[in-house]
Amino acid sequence: MMRAVRLAQVGKPLENADVPVPEIGPDEALIRVAAAGMCHSDAHYRAGISKIDNLPVTLGHEIAGRVEEVGSDVTNVSAGDRVCVHYLVSCGSCEFCVRGLEQFCRHVQMIGKDRDGGYAEFIKVPGANAFPLPDEIPFDVGAIMMCSSATALHALNKARLRPGESIAIFGLGGLGFSALQLARAFDCEDVYVVEIKPAKLASAASMGAMAIDARSADPVEQIKEATAGRGVDVALELIGSAKTMRQAVLCLGPLGRAALVGLTAESMSIHPYTELINKEVEIIGVSDHLAAELPALIEFARSGKLRFPQDALRFVDLDAKQINASLDAFQNSIDHIRTVIVQSSDK
Ligand SMILES: [Zn+2]
Ligand SMILES: [Zn+2]
Repeated sequence: MMRAVRLAQVGKPLENADVPVPEIGPDEALIRVAAAGMCHSDAHYRAGISKIDNLPVTLGHEIAGRVEEVGSDVTNVSAGDRVCVHYLVSCGSCEFCVRGLEQFCRHVQMIGKDRDGGYAEFIKVPGANAFPLPDEIPFDVGAIMMCSSATALHALNKARLRPGESIAIFGLGGLGFSALQLARAFDCEDVYVVEIKPAKLASAASMGAMAIDARSADPVEQIKEATAGRGVDVALELIGSAKTMRQAVLCLGPLGRAALVGLTAESMSIHPYTELINKEVEIIGVSDHLAAELPALIEFARSGKLRFPQDALRFVDLDAKQINASLDAFQNSIDHIRTVIVQSSDK
């Protein structure tokens, strides 16, 4: 048996449970979880804002640990390896999977939602979902990278950001924190961060970006002014508001690309001719990330281009009480400090 922290009923606190250690099949790996990141979406699952079909389920989709055992068909990792986990389990054979677009897999399952996740001592995953984690990357960082950093990288890839281009990032939360560092790793000199919180504006500036205070003046005007009227090549909207989505489109120069990542139920209005057509700008939706993008992400972290200072992380035990309290804190504020469930002294 093993310990797990599970969602048994929507709207109720997570519960401590003793469940059997998963038995693996030939194409699966059993991982001893060393670190599991806590995500905003976990608070949404618990609250019922995002729907969960199969209960009870062990939450946790940001996972790193050590391989305990592999099935006979697994060749990419072996027992004892340090690994991090890609959270989308796909069928591998549908029309999207064969094109490497597994986030649209017709049978996709999300770890920690549709199947048991990492708030447990062990997790079983398909071998293909385990990625080697280099020794330079601590387990806690390996875990939290697998969600917001991976999505930030996917957004930059979807926006086709090229070296030397300029970028405006709307919102310096967990996604923006990674997007800013990754944009610099893509050799983008001119990175603008639009924020309203003084502490976040200061941290953007300290990370080498140009901080745009949206409270002081229209951020679009400020970006236009800073770029001699031209606008930026790429804008990332990470906040999830119709207002900032519109600003992300309006701050683009000719052939600019706005990648929208933040979620909102609001509608956004655009004037097709003057704001889109005559500049040939593009508005691009971004959802999740691809397994094929993870090796590059892991390399950015290994080489130190993507960092998470230890004082930006908060640690809790694998314990329902502590985890529920952290999820409560998520619901009440948007905090870019990440909380990680740590289970071992194994680094
Ligand atoms: Zn997440
Ligand atoms: Zn598929």
